[in-house]
Amino acid sequence: MRLSRVRKAILLGLVLLAIGATGRASAGPIAQPAEVLAVPATSVSAKPKPTPVKTRTPKPKPTKPDGRKVVNPRFAGPAGSHMLTGTKGVALTFDDGPDPAETPKMLKLLAQHHVKATFCLVGDNVRRHPALVRQIVAQGHTLCNHTWDHSLKLGKDPEAKIRADLSRTNAAIRKAVPGAKIKYFRAPGGNFTPRLVKTAKDLGMISIYWKVDPRDWEHKKGESSAAHQAKVIRQIEKHCRPGAIVLSHDYAQPDTIAAYRKLIPWLKKRYTLVALPG
Ligand SMILES: [Zn+2]
Repeated sequence: MRLSRVRKAILLGLVLLAIGATGRASAGPIAQPAEVLAVPATSVSAKPKPTPVKTRTPKPKPTKPDGRKVVNPRFAGPAGSHMLTGTKGVALTFDDGPDPAETPKMLKLLAQHHVKATFCLVGDNVRRHPALVRQIVAQGHTLCNHTWDHSLKLGKDPEAKIRADLSRTNAAIRKAVPGAKIKYFRAPGGNFTPRLVKTAKDLGMISIYWKVDPRDWEHKKGESSAAHQAKVIRQIEKHCRPGAIVLSHDYAQPDTIAAYRKLIPWLKKRYTLVALPG
């Protein structure tokens, strides 16, 4: 009995040893991943320190490319049309004429101050008042095509229709002034589309939008003539900058002429007024 107890004890001891060995053996594979995990854990804790330095330093470089195209403010008008003259000179542009009542007054005012401007002409008005176109050119102003009948939707028309409209307008201008240079085009309402800009370019014209719009065409209900003129003056004085293209109208806007009587001396003191190069 004693021996058997001893044997049992030995056997038990062997069994326990065997369990201990297998326990270690089974713990082996668990210990390995724990060590593998421990490697990145130490490397992660070491990395954060240098990474902020690395991310901070390249930041100043991407500000220029930044994945997006940097738009030149000169060509920031709709469909890439020009908003600025490209020099420090400020260009006054007068749209929708010629108008037999207002255009002669504007031409007289500009001549008094020795200022050259740009006139965006509507073909149908050119056809009716060719002598005024001759007067505009004779005084050294620049011409701009403003479509045949001031269609605000021309940019959505097929290219052939756009081409016909702009060509007809240029033909009317050149009938009044043979060989006239027409280097500029302005879409009515500034409603440029890529198709309109491209067709104008094909016909040798640069599309001009504007930087300053005093909304001289907009007469609010109950607004007096004096208040309207004051608004036009205020808007131009507030927003004009070197290089700006300024939009106004010499057609059916007598208040605009009155506003410019005050504006031109003010502008001449601060800016060089230029006709867009013809
Ligand atoms: Zn217009």
